[in-house]
Amino acid sequence: MIPRSLVAHLDADCFYVSAERVRHPDLLGKPVGVLGNQGACVIAKSYEMKAAGVKTGEPIWDARVKCPEGIYIKRDFRWYEVISRQMLDVTRKHSHLVEYYSIDEFFFAVETPRGQAVEPAIRAVQAEIKEKIRVPVTIGVARTRTLAKLFSDTAKPFGIRVASTREEERERLSQLSVQEISGIAGRRAQRLADRGIHTCLQLADADRRVVRELLTKTGEDLWWELNGTPATPIRPNRTPRQFISRGGSIGGASGDPNVIEAWLVRNAERLVEELEFYEVKAGNLTLALHFNNHPSIGANAPLASHTDRFDVLLDGLRIALPRCWRPGLVVTHMHLIAGKLRKPGFTQPGLFDPPAEPSDTIARLKREASERHGRFSVRSGTTLFLPELYRDPSHGFDICDVRGKFCF
Ligand SMILES: [Mg+2]
Repeated sequence: MIPRSLVAHLDADCFYVSAERVRHPDLLGKPVGVLGNQGACVIAKSYEMKAAGVKTGEPIWDARVKCPEGIYIKRDFRWYEVISRQMLDVTRKHSHLVEYYSIDEFFFAVETPRGQAVEPAIRAVQAEIKEKIRVPVTIGVARTRTLAKLFSDTAKPFGIRVASTREEERERLSQLSVQEISGIAGRRAQRLADRGIHTCLQLADADRRVVRELLTKTGEDLWWELNGTPATPIRPNRTPRQFISRGGSIGGASGDPNVIEAWLVRNAERLVEELEFYEVKAGNLTLALHFNNHPSIGANAPLASHTDRFDVLLDGLRIALPRCWRPGLVVTHMHLIAGKLRKPGFTQPGLFDPPAEPSDTIARLKREASERHGRFSVRSGTTLFLPELYRDPSHGFDICDVRGKFCF
């Protein structure tokens, strides 16, 4: 019997590598490793590289020994988010209830066209993502989120696993260790092992009160989910955020006003990306600077109304900058912190906001170019003072952000 309400868990296969292959198709079929922030560790690898024995988290110098023919690329989370958004858009065409669980994992309610079986409907989602976005995904389907996620893990790569009867569920659960459940490792796993609970099926068959005693309420929810009763709903909206901040080291201490302003603009562009990504507008904005030779200073960037507009935010930041910095102070870190975040429907334009054009057009052009050509393919001319940051040839377009004019 196929139950009426089913949950799907969609998970991209070696996502960072797959995303790189979208823009570099020549990487298909080759061993590829994506490196972390400092370029020292492999944070994601292709199946070809995995076959050579390279593990996630391994330092590049060890990986190179195991897989000398490997191609190692520095990570670009912004690009991965662009791809992630495209995957989300396709998934939303197939279900009205989708949860963005992580950059490459979504939960969604399975909706089958009348008379169609579950598996072809799920295959259609997988095929459309592969065809339109060129990313392979694996999808698990079951009565609850926990079951769906466990089953998708066993179907990789590019698989589909639909558990439609309790017998099928039990069969699969019996083959999975409790440690396959995220959050069960170390001490929790040991507590279960002490009671003779090693597999997911043993956990499902254990006394619910004992599970609660061992793993608290979270464990009890898990027990219900393993037994096919949803305890956690699909959440189509993200938990509202209090703050969004962007910034960090300015890549070498500097007292040069051109470099400091370039970082201000760059961080404002990054902040706008985040505001757009989370679909919120900022009600206030703080600039904080850290120095080599002075205690840190923060100042408010005045905003007349909630906004995600680059020009308005930058105007506020340009007022805040001289309140934080004066010649002679050597900046090491800069942070932009946006607060009082609101969804666009809950804001109204400020009475004294400058006209929305050409700002909105520039914002749209930047967004479209980023989606098509990669992050910051169009960016503000002020950031030309940071040539080393934008060495990637795809960052070759520039626009000036003098209000009222823009040039390519
Ligand atoms: Mg994945």
